[in-house]
Amino acid sequence: MTGNEVRSAFLEYFKKNDHRVVKSSSLVPQDDPTLLFTNAGMVQFKRTFLGEDKRDYTRAATSQKCVRAGGKHNDLENVGYTARHHTFFEMLGNFSFGDYFKELAIELSWDLLVNKFGLPADKLWVSIYLDDDEAGLLWRDKIGVPEERIVRLGEKDNFWSMGDTGPCGPCSEIHIDRGEAFGCDSPDCAVGCDCDRYLEIWNLVFMQYNRDETGKMTPLPRPSIDTGMGLERICSILQNADTNYGTDLFTPIFNRIGELSGKKLGDSKTDDVCMKVIADHSRAAAFLVGDGILPSNEGRGYVLRRIMRRAIRYGRQLGFNKSFLHETVAAVCDSMGGAYPDLTEGRSFITNVIVNEENRFSETLDKGLSVLNDALGEMEAKGEKEISGEVIFKLYDTYGFPVDIVEDVVRDKGIVLDRDGFETRMKEQKEKSRSTVAFEGAGEAFASLSSQGIKCEFQGYHGTSGCSKVLLV
Ligand code: ATP
Ligand code: MG
Ligand code: MG
Ligand code: MG
Repeated sequence: MTGNEVRSAFLEYFKKNDHRVVKSSSLVPQDDPTLLFTNAGMVQFKRTFLGEDKRDYTRAATSQKCVRAGGKHNDLENVGYTARHHTFFEMLGNFSFGDYFKELAIELSWDLLVNKFGLPADKLWVSIYLDDDEAGLLWRDKIGVPEERIVRLGEKDNFWSMGDTGPCGPCSEIHIDRGEAFGCDSPDCAVGCDCDRYLEIWNLVFMQYNRDETGKMTPLPRPSIDTGMGLERICSILQNADTNYGTDLFTPIFNRIGELSGKKLGDSKTDDVCMKVIADHSRAAAFLVGDGILPSNEGRGYVLRRIMRRAIRYGRQLGFNKSFLHETVAAVCDSMGGAYPDLTEGRSFITNVIVNEENRFSETLDKGLSVLNDALGEMEAKGEKEISGEVIFKLYDTYGFPVDIVEDVVRDKGIVLDRDGFETRMKEQKEKSRSTVAFEGAGEAFASLSSQGIKCEFQGYHGTSGCSKVLLV
């Protein structure tokens, strides 16, 4: 099955089971300042779960564009290194708004995976929340999963929430054992381990509470269901690919990277990391710009800038010495435009935004990298293992390096970052610029008064608040 076929089969299956197929919402959450990006299928239904928004259906299914780069769910640094994490991915989900609950959610997910998609039942494991005996019994007695493949996990893995506040509840996840070759060296490797052996494919969330700012949990008007399955992950299983990147969803992007670089995925471990980062981040950049976000120095725009600059830096490592990202982003628009027509319509706008950012950053990237390498050389000579806040700040301030670029460069070198020192310098700079703004304001007031013939003397600014003082004389 191709990725497009898997997406359609999922939606079709739930349509047959009385679900309304709803379009993906934007990556920018509507009227929700608590969230940076849409990070799960339930985001567009948040108010429906809370009972604040009534819809003319009680069951829905979506294929939702998601980004997990910043905020509570942040996978940016995983990208390139695990088989299963992306910044941008598509989440397939089915939802019940006070309609069915645990039993049918469990039955439907199992039926789709085992009977329709043909996954081997004896390789599937399920996890449940610590005290969720109800889910445990359903898996064991209704579905027939043997007791030893039902694992109880705690809050971190099996209690799902969108962010610090909002709808949440215990969950149950379906994992597939990919075999020892995918495992790690830990003697404790099991379901819930961070390695890729027991691959989590589907999370069924039993939405029961709304968490407020104080952490208090109030029951939702009616218990509901929210599920999420990564399209790229289920495709990796169905297509027998070692990682999500080996699926047909990524083929056109790697083909383009290959044409530009002459390299092929699988030839070298270090090049693979670069290529995966570029492929992943090209998708994220295409979709984020397509949803109206532009690179900037704060908020969503800054996350986009970090993603793009991270890709550009890995591109340098792969051997690109001129701009390439707009080309790989164009490949995303071309290959995913069928499922997401906005990418086709917005193609030239999107690639223009990308090429501008590339040109802007390319000018300082090489200089910044040589400053960083010089600093690393000096540290090595002195036997130091911590890169100073001053250097990190200089790279940020003068060369436009987001901190994670420094982290990527030193990743396997056993070097740590003086983050506190960096933060102190950031704070100092903020203070300074606040004072400068106040000073400039005072300068204007001074000029205005003088031009009115009022004699006055500028006496500088006061204390730390940045207040300025103009003395009338
Ligand atoms: P993991 O433990 O592997 O990080 P998760 O528990 O954080 O996954 P959920 O929040 O439960 O993931 O999201 C529901 C589903 O979405 C997951 O079961 C998985 O199939 C998919 N998914 C989650 N994060 C990513 C990601 N960064 N890239 C691709 N797919 C993802
Ligand atoms: Mg995760
Ligand atoms: Mg998990
Ligand atoms: Mg999960």
